[in-house]
Amino acid sequence: MMIDRETRKRLIVAVANRVVAGADELTDLDRAIGDGDHGTNMRRGFEAVLAAADELSAKSFGESVKGVGTTLVMKVGGASGPLYGTLFLSLGKVLSDEMSREQVADAFAAAIEAVKARGKSEAGQKTMLDVLLPVLAVVREGGEGIPARLRATARAAAENTIPMKAIRGRASFLGERSIGHMDPGARSSELIVDAVADVMEGCA
Ligand code: ADP
Ligand code: MG
Repeated sequence: MMIDRETRKRLIVAVANRVVAGADELTDLDRAIGDGDHGTNMRRGFEAVLAAADELSAKSFGESVKGVGTTLVMKVGGASGPLYGTLFLSLGKVLSDEMSREQVADAFAAAIEAVKARGKSEAGQKTMLDVLLPVLAVVREGGEGIPARLRATARAAAENTIPMKAIRGRASFLGERSIGHMDPGARSSELIVDAVADVMEGCA
């Protein structure tokens, strides 16, 4: 897999646009089981990423992804800012312009471990991890039609957070009442994965 400057820009712009377009929905989800700021937080962060897209994509893939992470740490706030910041910073440390799928899977796995450490969280607690981990499994597995499988897996995984009880984050304050709503961070992770899948398809 070769990630040139144009692809870096397409990835950054596609992900940022998708999150910004989904901000109102993220806010509605967070209103149900949190404090209703996830969409505003993510919009602020990814608008800053969009504004810096040219500058970021001029750097190597690793440095540009790190730059996304730094921007998110500075701009998003809430619980999700440091967590998404950690995800992208950790990914950026390992990613390079030319990598095998196995290397991308290893980088993604390490980044997810960093999020877990930062959030003291794990699978099954109704968070972004419940989308990121199943998506990692698809990257790891490889095979045919990866973009479509990434999308379908992220969609199903976000849906699967609906019956979960939140154990981490603000939604955990609701206990049983968190059941029956999709986790906002799971949905924002789905949006990010979706946008990456679109760019992968365009490149295929
Ligand atoms: P806040 O909860 O501070 O208002 P946001 O609303 O921006 O922050 O983000 C909430 C999302 O962050 C949740 O939906 C969840 O997916 C994610 N999240 C919160 N705490 C954790 C954690 N400890 N580990 C993993 N993800 C978490
Ligand atoms: Mg919130």
